Amino acid sequence: MHLQLRGHAPPSPTKSYALAPHALTKESGSHGTTVIKIGGSTLGEHDSTVQDLAALQRNGINPVVVHGGGGVISDWMTKQGVRPIFKDGLRVTDAEGLKIVVAVLAGLVNKELVVSLSAAGARAVGVSGADGGILKARIKNPDLGYVGAVTEVDPSPIRAILAEGCMPVVAPVAVGVSDEPDRPGFLLNINADTVAGEVARAMGAERLIILTDVEGILDGSRRLIPRLTQRQAVELKNSRVVAGGMIPKIEACLRALERGAISQIIDGRKAGALSESMNGKPIGTRIG
Ligand code: ADP
Ligand code: MG
Repeated sequence: MHLQLRGHAPPSPTKSYALAPHALTKESGSHGTTVIKIGGSTLGEHDSTVQDLAALQRNGINPVVVHGGGGVISDWMTKQGVRPIFKDGLRVTDAEGLKIVVAVLAGLVNKELVVSLSAAGARAVGVSGADGGILKARIKNPDLGYVGAVTEVDPSPIRAILAEGCMPVVAPVAVGVSDEPDRPGFLLNINADTVAGEVARAMGAERLIILTDVEGILDGSRRLIPRLTQRQAVELKNSRVVAGGMIPKIEACLRALERGAISQIIDGRKAGALSESMNGKPIGTRIG
């Protein structure tokens, strides 16, 4: 991905990773919505994600993109003297932290992605989950501060963007919902994996692909697990083998699976990984 959020050198000329001729297309009739989550940790300089996303759109498969921003948020928090804290893979967000999260996620990261996609020939529209009331959320765990648990998803603004032939790029921010009657509107941050899972479920997506910075789910001996049943995934999630940022990924896959999505966690650092997975190559970990 050619994002320069962390001061990388300008990108080298665009490499193209064309989809194989047998790639799924809208015309094949077998395609529904594809939700793709791109990880904060894969917003780097080596991967081909942006090119792959643009290639998908050229091939008539217009995915819904949900992005995180982990590393970039941490960098900006450090710059502002706010120390990032995580609890069970979820970021703890206080009122000041929330401002940085929203500015960085819905601003810088979202727009850098949109402009990178545009440079790769794609038409993308960046929105946050708060726009058009796509995502509503409540503070569920006060320990995590301004972090929301999704209560409602309205995918219609996403569908409107898709209907215009544009690629929706969603930042994981939601409209906060509270029981206090006169509380003014507020924003909540949501884990991007969670958003991807909820959006996939709400849209009845055919596929959910989560790109991350490991090969997939690794077992206790750090070997890749190619496939897990729903039940095995639940067991593994509750075991000590899975920790940190992998927990919400498994939860997201399980959520999307409730409506039958093909759910995969793949290595976003590998060139062409997204195209391979769209072409049905069994890479990473599939759940279900
Ligand atoms: P992202 O930005 O893609 O969300 P995260 O750091 O949040 O990345 O989540 C991916 C991380 O989850 C991996 O880099 C790894 O450190 C961690 N992890 C914890 N348990 C496992 C596991 N069993 N298999 C693979 N990764 C795991
Ligand atoms: Mg994460």
